[in-house]
Amino acid sequence: GKKVLIIGAGGVGNVVAKKCAMNPDVFSEVVLASRTKSKCDAIAEECAKIGLPIPVQTAQVDADNVPELVALINEVKPWMIINVALPYQDLTIMDACLETGVHYMDTANYEPKDVAKFEYSWQWAYKERFEQAGLMALLGCGFDPGVTQVYTAYANKHHFDEMHYLDIIDCNAGDHGKAFATNFNPEINIREITQNGRYWENGEWVEIPPMSIHKAIDYPGIGPKESYVLYHEELESLVKNFPTIKRARFWMTFGQQYLTHLNVLQNVGMTSIEPIKFKGIDIVPLEFLKAVLPEPGTLGENYTGETSIGCQIKGIKDGKDRTYYVWNNCKHQDCWSEVQAQGVSYTTGVPAMLGAMMMITGEWFKPGVWNCEEMNPDPFMAMLNVHGLPWNELVDVALPHEY
Ligand code: NDP
Repeated sequence: GKKVLIIGAGGVGNVVAKKCAMNPDVFSEVVLASRTKSKCDAIAEECAKIGLPIPVQTAQVDADNVPELVALINEVKPWMIINVALPYQDLTIMDACLETGVHYMDTANYEPKDVAKFEYSWQWAYKERFEQAGLMALLGCGFDPGVTQVYTAYANKHHFDEMHYLDIIDCNAGDHGKAFATNFNPEINIREITQNGRYWENGEWVEIPPMSIHKAIDYPGIGPKESYVLYHEELESLVKNFPTIKRARFWMTFGQQYLTHLNVLQNVGMTSIEPIKFKGIDIVPLEFLKAVLPEPGTLGENYTGETSIGCQIKGIKDGKDRTYYVWNNCKHQDCWSEVQAQGVSYTTGVPAMLGAMMMITGEWFKPGVWNCEEMNPDPFMAMLNVHGLPWNELVDVALPHEY
């Protein structure tokens, strides 16, 4: 096994640490570091309490600071870093990996703090440097991005000669009992959904006002839920890597109560990322809002209901039309019982552990900077079934929702 350093001890970090600590054949040692060390310690204690075979070691680090990261990496000497801090830290951690000769993985693309801009350009620009150093960086290995690209690669490999239409559909039909809370980091979540929507059609991006395209989609085991077209980062790499795709869209469900709260917060200026002066200091309204909202990691205990995320694809196989739908449903309560997490943290943390497993076992090892759909989907798909995110598929059956 290999030693891993996990950075970020939020909702996702909790799941990644526990899932790694359950698999001693792959992970020899697990170190969890974050800005607030007490959060790492609390997770490590829980791992010990539930009797996981690998003890989790902890450390403090400010991942915005490259020299601090380098010092920590030199001390810990991990084989790779699993970055589940925030997207703002992606580049500093990649720099530190290059400086110390350590492999890299994350679950969300880099975003500068001062503009909500989702694109891979910054991280793809590291490709040659990683290649030359013989190092691998695997980008976006959560559920979406992550599993959605593995699903698409699997569909392409086994079910299509040409994929034409891709709809990624993401439903959270859970209830956490709070009036308003986000399921992952509130700052990142709100930045993502308040920007314009965007989808790919006939070789170009079509930009739309936020939440302006929506319809009810029928999710398996859940029923119809109003779903909204958003821009989501995996679309960028998918249309590049599968150029036969004529249209690619990403749909996500939102409840009316969530949208009403979000509208009000936006209307009063609380979601702005422009700093304002308050009592003589600069504060960013969205960062202040994050401070008063529940932390995503605390939503799990009373969370009921389930998530359903999948890919619906149309195209051709052997000269005939083909439809394909592959998805996972995940119950919040099952995640709580297993690793004291809610479903959104779980569906991100399990693939992150699996991405690291694929790199360590060599199934996915390749120097350079890569997105998940560029790897062989088969071993990852097999492991999803073993480690808590079993999938279902329908081939040439009328899709639950026709577009
Ligand atoms: P949380 O806000 O719960 O956790 C983030 C963690 O990162 C916190 O422990 C925080 O520390 C730590 N952190 C923030 N800044 C720094 C820093 N400068 N140095 C060190 N640590 C830092 O978020 P989540 O766990 O929900 O999300 C983690 C990541 O996963 C995000 O990038 C998110 O975008 C991504 N994600 C990806 C999904 C996918 O499907 N691909 C889905 C959901 C999330 P502190 O406690 O001190 O604030």
